[in-house]
Amino acid sequence: MTGPFREIADRVFIGRYPQWDVNVGVVVGSDGICVVDTRGTLKQGQEVRDQIARLAPPGAVTHVVNTHVHFDHVLGNAAFPAARKTAHANAIAAMAGHIAQVKQACLEDASPSDELGYTADDLAELVASPLAVPESGFAVSAVIDLGDRALRLSYAGRGHTDGDLAAAVSDVPVVFFGDLIEEAANPSYGTDCCPLDWADTLTDHLARLPGGALVIPGHGLPVDRDFVAAQRDAVGIVAAVVRDRHTAGMSLADAMREPDTRLPYPLASLAEAFTRAWSELAGP
Ligand SMILES: [Zn+2]
Repeated sequence: MTGPFREIADRVFIGRYPQWDVNVGVVVGSDGICVVDTRGTLKQGQEVRDQIARLAPPGAVTHVVNTHVHFDHVLGNAAFPAARKTAHANAIAAMAGHIAQVKQACLEDASPSDELGYTADDLAELVASPLAVPESGFAVSAVIDLGDRALRLSYAGRGHTDGDLAAAVSDVPVVFFGDLIEEAANPSYGTDCCPLDWADTLTDHLARLPGGALVIPGHGLPVDRDFVAAQRDAVGIVAAVVRDRHTAGMSLADAMREPDTRLPYPLASLAEAFTRAWSELAGP
């Protein structure tokens, strides 16, 4: 019983879990196993750990990589106390504060969500889960050595958050993108998004993608280069519309309400894109 894991390339597995519809990656090398993202509670992380132990070849997780700061990708970290944990330095800097905010929000509203696959019990577990902040941060690039292969981590700028990394397997064309790309839903513009930089960041990552790459999003099915390029274009259009409105002197309230046929996503889902861009464009 290996749970949801399926092998998408030689010794590279992905598991898609119902709570928050989140993906977990596993890369097995001759001298180590790396898990990419750990789900949203300690118990969910422990489930991942137990399922990995039953994969072939079996072994213990030696490394954890968090694609970015968000709770549904990091709160299972504590299930891997012996693993060396790595994330971008910006994600590490923001993690404790983000987790405290999410826990507070759960305490204020513990309603389950059928759409996002979590129950009130999942939220109670989330609140009780300890955070294991990665001890290893990097600024531009890092390598996770797994013996006969490696995971190459790269940072290309801000996007979904200010600390999203891409993790490329060295010997097969598989790259984990976290929530820089979404397949199951539209790109997520949260309170810590960086809407003006997102497209440029994806352009940089696209330039580094190996031929025939399979890109693993944080949520949803694996995608290809064309999908990434199309979503890059879409987040670029959002940035262009936001900039146009700011340059035209619109108020934030008006900008958030004004329809525009160029916008690829519903206005209601872009409130934080406008809010974050407005504060950035206003300057210090
Ligand atoms: Zn996220």
